[in-house]
Amino acid sequence: MLKLEDSYRHKGQRRELVKLIRSKGIKDEAVLSAINTLPRHFFFDTALDSHAYEDKAFPIGEGQTISQPYTVAFQTELLQIKQGDKVLEIGTGSGYQGAILHLLGAEVHTIEYQKKLYDRTKKFLTKIGIPLNFYFGDGSQGMPAQAPFDKILVTAGAPIVPKPLLKQLKIGGILVIPVGDRKTQKMLRLTKKTATKIVQEEFDNFAFVPLLGQDGWK
Ligand code: SAM
Repeated sequence: MLKLEDSYRHKGQRRELVKLIRSKGIKDEAVLSAINTLPRHFFFDTALDSHAYEDKAFPIGEGQTISQPYTVAFQTELLQIKQGDKVLEIGTGSGYQGAILHLLGAEVHTIEYQKKLYDRTKKFLTKIGIPLNFYFGDGSQGMPAQAPFDKILVTAGAPIVPKPLLKQLKIGGILVIPVGDRKTQKMLRLTKKTATKIVQEEFDNFAFVPLLGQDGWK
């Protein structure tokens, strides 16, 4: 799969990162194992490579960020990914989160609103052999042509829960989305029990870049 260079040093740093994330409360062994497997430094410029295993978000250009590893683990754990799940990720960004979902056995569809990031990440993940389905457009409207999905993950902070996303979930499906103001958002998990019954759970606060688009920030 991966054609770039991993090293003992990076592997050691990854193990330490996983230890830290575990100590912060992540319990899902499959999620921890995916983080231990995927070289996060591949997603960084070589000059910034030393920051790849800090538990921090990091700029990836175009005013966007690669999410903090703990946040990636937290959102992924909430999704309860099963082998073969059809997952829509909104906010491709660096592609790291999408790659983690792929390692967990999901069929990943990912949409990005910034053309430069979309082009760059699609090219890069294809090069390192991670086969996601990439789309360019406004993910606040979901991806109706590919719906329904088992799981939907929003990796940008939304002002509301966009209705199209709930519509595009299967019965039994899960939507994980941070909702709040432009600076901080509460993590929500919405489970679609029936066509009309949605159960909402609330978790900690996080700080994401804003979700833009029709049902996002203007
Ligand atoms: N998942 C990413 C990763 O692993 O690197 C991190 C995503 S970053 C925190 C949020 C991303 O959402 C940015 O790349 C941003 O351009 C994108 N975004 C914002 N609004 C969007 C929208 N309406 N549709 C799709 N992507 C959007």
